[in-house]
Amino acid sequence: MKAIRVHQFGGPEVMQLEEVPTLHAGPGQVLVRVHAAGINPVDTYIRSGAYAAKPVLPYTPGKDAGGVVEAVGEGVRQVKPGDRVYVGDSLTGTYADYALCLPAQLHPLPQQVTFSQGAAVNVPYATAYRALFQRAKAVAGETVLVHGATGGVGIASVQLARAAGLTIIGTGGTEAGRRLVTEQGAQHVLDHRSPDYLRQILELTGGRGVDVILEMASHINLGKDLTVLARDGRLAVVGSRGPVEINPRDAMSRDANILGVMLNNASEKELAGIHAALVAGLENGTLRPVIRKELPLAEAALGHQLVMEPGSWGKIVLVP
Ligand code: NAP
Repeated sequence: MKAIRVHQFGGPEVMQLEEVPTLHAGPGQVLVRVHAAGINPVDTYIRSGAYAAKPVLPYTPGKDAGGVVEAVGEGVRQVKPGDRVYVGDSLTGTYADYALCLPAQLHPLPQQVTFSQGAAVNVPYATAYRALFQRAKAVAGETVLVHGATGGVGIASVQLARAAGLTIIGTGGTEAGRRLVTEQGAQHVLDHRSPDYLRQILELTGGRGVDVILEMASHINLGKDLTVLARDGRLAVVGSRGPVEINPRDAMSRDANILGVMLNNASEKELAGIHAALVAGLENGTLRPVIRKELPLAEAALGHQLVMEPGSWGKIVLVP
């Protein structure tokens, strides 16, 4: 079988396609034939060696995939060969023809959802769900600012928020991205590169500010966010690539709640709840992952370059 292998941390070029020994499902394990593997920003942080939790070298990157159960090990009853699944992390990495998983890492992939879409579910949608509902506790009728709505987590947040009856203000840095955010259900879409979009947010909320903010670029926006948050508002820090200065008075005057979000911190029970909700949304069509590009597995390095460039819209996946 083929897999992307990383022998040393570094730039995208350290990822090489190699022939590796075939995997076999041991007791309690499941072998999944990967039809598509999702690329997430976190895969690039891990590959560069900058991420706190470092894998043992050499390793195969990737947490997300869409595929079919190939074989199950002794004692596995939850899935069977032939089942369509989306993968929420694995034991061996998903940038490969096959991945070994635990049964709890597999979730049913409805027939109408493609394998590439399946590869775009786990990290983006689970993070969006955790941020919106488990951390910020958003409820129907509230207004949410999805600050960075064009990427994987952003699109997922827009679809989840729309299905839950929230009013959404989404932001994007390009015309194509903003068009997509409107198509996915945001009632208002603004340009986070425009000089007066914060004023527009206040205008859209009658000067009150938004109840919830899901922030994808906290290192740029955290201080600004506090100025457009309503009293008792909740600001979920989803993404951040560095330090930022804030004025604590903006938080004090609003009784603001600044909430860290880390998908990896979700408990087993919380994760089970998240995936039950995501499977239901995939089944009823409210959740529809958007694929921007399918690349061959050998082009993983290009995928890592593209995912870190500005101007997102949807997900990049690798097809073995
Ligand atoms: P992505 O697909 O690469 O999307 C990045 C998003 O950030 C795009 O919507 C982009 O918009 C937006 N953005 C760029 N500059 C911005 C600015 N100045 N203001 C507001 N938004 C801006 O990444 P993703 O998968 O959605 O992940 C988003 C962030 O969350 C990443 O930093 C990722 O590492 C992090 N994350 C955290 C967790 C967690 O557990 N905490 C889990 C998953 C992801 P344009 O390109 O349109 O400008």
